[in-house]
Amino acid sequence: MKKIKKDIRELSKKEIQEFFLSHNEPSFKGTQVYQWLWKKGVHDFDLMTNLSFGHRALLKTNFEIKHIKIDDYQRSIDGTIKNAVKLHDQFIVESVLIPTSKRSTACVSSQVGCSLDCVFCATAALKRMRNLNADEIYDQVVAMDNQSKLYFNRPLTNIVFMGMGEPLMNYKNVLSAINKIIDPEGLAMSPRRITLSTSGIPKMIIKMAVDKVKFGLAVSLHSARQEVREKIMPFANKFPLTELSKALKFWYEYSNKPITYEYVIWEGINDKLEDIQALVKFCHKIPSKVNLIQYNPIDKSSMNEAPVEVIESYLKELSKAKINVTYRRSRGEDISAACGQLANKLQSN
Ligand code: SAH
Repeated sequence: MKKIKKDIRELSKKEIQEFFLSHNEPSFKGTQVYQWLWKKGVHDFDLMTNLSFGHRALLKTNFEIKHIKIDDYQRSIDGTIKNAVKLHDQFIVESVLIPTSKRSTACVSSQVGCSLDCVFCATAALKRMRNLNADEIYDQVVAMDNQSKLYFNRPLTNIVFMGMGEPLMNYKNVLSAINKIIDPEGLAMSPRRITLSTSGIPKMIIKMAVDKVKFGLAVSLHSARQEVREKIMPFANKFPLTELSKALKFWYEYSNKPITYEYVIWEGINDKLEDIQALVKFCHKIPSKVNLIQYNPIDKSSMNEAPVEVIESYLKELSKAKINVTYRRSRGEDISAACGQLANKLQSN
């Protein structure tokens, strides 16, 4: 009968060291294996070249290394790379590597599909199938770090949790992946270079503050008027803006970190002066800045981005109110890799 092997990546460093000790081998071999797995992202025992053949054989008979696989990828004319990432159970998520002159940013998925139903987002059409586990999240980052070195001659500089899914609905696994990303024995990245983007779940924002996380927080706001926000982000009726702003205030008081609001301006939805005024008022509650994002049209949607004059009046009014604001052009639009366009179009099966 075939022996069922345990995934070695479920073991802590101490457990791997103990495995070696229990086979009368030195525990530092366990440290080396841990570094191969987490610092170097190796998925094959035979590539662990500072282990003897005997040690490799011992590991192979007892363990397997489960990992994701980049099934397919597309490159945009602007350099953006969109990956179709195959998980152990054949589900596919997408992750995107976005290069600029100085940065390489990895946009990471946290769930297969999404349970929120934002009317403007392509991922919303995919039912939420399951949460990604911490390794699957971490592996996306390692894969894009390698791609960045290969294509752009530098490691990743930034990570954003803005791919498929709602990271605060998979908080535990996202946090444990981030802990490995910042661990000196993992990727040793600074948490200041990591941003988690949420649709705004008040109790989880409070939890992040209490947990004293060191990464940044972005909130997909899109409207500071409750009735408008509920129309485009229907779950917002459960998490009203009053609760959201209380949680954000708590976050700021605890972490001292300002918040970034992501905001798309649509024709006929949030293009009026009262929308701008509501946003100004909301921003003045807590130190924050606004990223106006270009709308990336999705199939079947009848929504259109507001004309440039409306965007300009947002920019003007926010600046006048001393609120830091930028308008971000999309990247990777030609390959459907831009915000809100991730919907497994690469998936062939
Ligand atoms: N669930 C998280 C992260 C995923 S969405 C969140 O809601 O923040 C990443 C960002 O893309 C969010 O700010 C989201 O509002 C935005 N987005 C979604 N669909 C979009 C679209 N079609 N065009 C532009 N931005 C979009």
